[in-house]
Amino acid sequence: MPKVFLKKLNARLQSGHPWIYENEIGRVEGDYENGDLVDVFRPDGSFFGKGYVNDHSLIRVRLLTRKNEKIDEAFFEERIKRALELRKRLVKDTDAFRVVHSEGDFLPGLVVDKYRDYLVVQFTTLGMEKLKEKVIDSLLKIFEPAGIYEKSVGSFREKEGLQDFEGWIYGNGPELIEFEMNGLKFLADLKGQKTGAFLDQRENARMVMDFSDGKVCLDVFSYTGNFAAHLLRGGAKHVTLIDYSERALEVAKEILKMNGFEGKFELINANAFDLLKVFDKDGKVFDLVVLDPPSFAKSAKSLENAKRGYKEVNLRAVRILKKPGILVTSSCTQVVSEETFKEILVEVSQDTKTILTVLKRGGQPSDHPVTLNIPETNYLKFFILQVEKR
Ligand code: SAH
Repeated sequence: MPKVFLKKLNARLQSGHPWIYENEIGRVEGDYENGDLVDVFRPDGSFFGKGYVNDHSLIRVRLLTRKNEKIDEAFFEERIKRALELRKRLVKDTDAFRVVHSEGDFLPGLVVDKYRDYLVVQFTTLGMEKLKEKVIDSLLKIFEPAGIYEKSVGSFREKEGLQDFEGWIYGNGPELIEFEMNGLKFLADLKGQKTGAFLDQRENARMVMDFSDGKVCLDVFSYTGNFAAHLLRGGAKHVTLIDYSERALEVAKEILKMNGFEGKFELINANAFDLLKVFDKDGKVFDLVVLDPPSFAKSAKSLENAKRGYKEVNLRAVRILKKPGILVTSSCTQVVSEETFKEILVEVSQDTKTILTVLKRGGQPSDHPVTLNIPETNYLKFFILQVEKR
């Protein structure tokens, strides 16, 4: 096996972080192809760990283990069982959850979501892609699923020198997979975003139920209506959903009907930034607004852009809220820290002469683990705020 020698050991690597950057490598012995497994050694020549390498990525090596062990089916079985054990007591009121959350479960490059009897898998790195067979064999053994759908699509694949791929790789199943969450019926859309649904908002969405009784609500960036369904279950009088994906809204319609909410919602296929501006101009107001925008930045390079995006969308939402009203606001952009997100919200309150009081705060559910030693695993910020005139 090729050998990679670290230039020096830094605190980050010593405290368990799995990424080895290009400039942290001193020398390499032996030939490798991108995606191959390599042994990593400390500068003094002692064994440090095992991972996979890719010259296309600034993160040259992602470590899979600090032990000198074989990366075989048994390795994956053990890692996946550990992940399952973690979720056993903590994942409640749902028959869909994330089984493997990449670095958060010490399996960089692998995402596995379970929707009832089906698994949806995503390989985001070349190294993990090369280990696919072993991963799939261990999943089959542990879950005996009715089907496994691979949804390896996204910009991260291109960076790794990989092409998109999606389709059933084991068994077969429907394009829309039914599941239940918080007592509501949902559909994971295999032709939609992520692995079909945003399971990371499960606990946050449950929280909004306590605030929606009798309220006229707006669900901005609704996707297939996760927040809308929870708002309606909480007793909302009416919910307007906005998304620029027509397909997402079609599925949302299906989901809201399945739950008996017919006549209580309106779907608007539009760009949220434009429509919020129009609502503001027309004097349209809501009692409660949910904002769940997509990630505004993939890297620190576009941090300023992301901040501007959050400022604008939150500003517009506050302006069309009745005062007092409720703003449910969230950020899934990893490079925007919780501190920065709060600073943006304070700026919004200054510009709108409002006071924002935290009613609830949320984050990632335990099936999307945050590992303190790997700060990058922490991405989701969530607040339910009471908005009042100053
Ligand atoms: N709240 C959803 C997830 C939202 S993901 C849930 O809990 O399931 C973000 C959504 O915003 C996606 O559905 C995407 O289609 C939509 N979107 C992205 N940019 C948009 C824009 N400018 N205007 C309207 N919708 C947008």
